[in-house]
Amino acid sequence: MPPPSSPETPTGPAAIAAHVGRPLDVVLPGFRTAVEGMGMKVVDAEGGASVTLSRGQILVSADGASTQLQLLPKDRMGAQVLRDLLDTLTSRMGVTLTWDDPLPKGRPANLSLARVVSSERISPSFQRIAVTAPDLARFGEGGLHFTLPQGAEGQDWPFTDEGGVTRWPGGAEAWHRPVFTTREITEGPDGPVLTFDVFWHDTGRTPGWVASLVAGDEIALMGPSGSAMPKPSAYLGLIADETAVPVVARILAQADPAVTGQTVLVVPSPEDRQEIAGPSGVQVTWLYRSEGKSPLDGLPLLVLPDSDRYVLFAAEKSEAAAAKEALTERGLIRGEFLAASYWSA
Ligand SMILES: Cc1cc2nc3c(=O)[nH]c(=O)nc-3n(C[C@H](O)[C@H](O)[C@H](O)COP(=O)(O)OP(=O)(O)OC[C@H]3O[C@@H](n4cnc5c(N)ncnc54)[C@H](O)[C@@H]3O)c2cc1C
Repeated sequence: MPPPSSPETPTGPAAIAAHVGRPLDVVLPGFRTAVEGMGMKVVDAEGGASVTLSRGQILVSADGASTQLQLLPKDRMGAQVLRDLLDTLTSRMGVTLTWDDPLPKGRPANLSLARVVSSERISPSFQRIAVTAPDLARFGEGGLHFTLPQGAEGQDWPFTDEGGVTRWPGGAEAWHRPVFTTREITEGPDGPVLTFDVFWHDTGRTPGWVASLVAGDEIALMGPSGSAMPKPSAYLGLIADETAVPVVARILAQADPAVTGQTVLVVPSPEDRQEIAGPSGVQVTWLYRSEGKSPLDGLPLLVLPDSDRYVLFAAEKSEAAAAKEALTERGLIRGEFLAASYWSA
């Protein structure tokens, strides 16, 4: 099997600078509007302003007749996030950004090119895909999920331009970018092997595509992203539809063996049950669409203690909204639960 090519963007935690060729007092109002329009906050500082994110900071300051925008990323992934964000902000502002140190064309720091090891139907409604690449270990840390970009036939993968900014061949809108969950990372002969499961729903573009993959095919994964492992607690309540069976399997596999609780998994029929390893004190119940069940039927099965508890409900958007209401009514507060929309009907 040939090794996957995954050139790295030469970004790192060092500060990254760029300029807009207009004075600070002209640039700052538009910068503020663009940042706030994306739900973030600008903090005024002497001689400029700053935006603080979990991945790093953007500083804005005067530099003679122009404005300097400085990125202070926490790590390589942070550098990618900040470069992409600054590009989005300045294009929303309608100003031209010039990067101080242009980079050669590369790949986004959060993109891995991997080779397919196998793609197999593990039950009537689930396809399991295993892929390998030397740089997949990072998907075992932090966010539990990743994006699976799908472009037109023969299209090159996303790349980075001279600003280290992610560019999508044919335009970002031309790409299908669904989110999936890293179910497991194991060690294989060619490096880490990442396994993920795709639910076969009738109208999806991804199931047919992944089922057509054969060993050696190249695919791209972008991440990790999304929620990390739930906060440790003595009680765990997990309710999932088909799309969230993988995340529940991962959470239970990594949970403290002393945890107790209930897990409710909804799949089309009994043939779609899977082996779910986890703490012996967490009871696993399967419900079937063929018997008219939905993830909301799992809510009454949770036996919630008064404290030290965490509940994850992940399913269709309107069901997640209904679950949020029901769990709030049962006294769960922010930080004690997540009602997540994994897809919308
Ligand atoms: C954080 C997160 C993690 C996820 N992890 C996984 C995972 O590990 N495995 C997995 O299979 N899915 C997972 N999903 C759900 C997945 O991203 C969506 O189902 C996505 O739409 C699948 O892409 P697609 O190409 O199959 O369908 P699309 O082409 O995006 O959608 C086509 C049509 O299918 C409908 N549709 C989408 N999902 C479903 C469904 N489940 N049932 C019925 N109709 C549907 C849509 O409404 C749309 O009309 C996850 C979602 C999130 C947000």
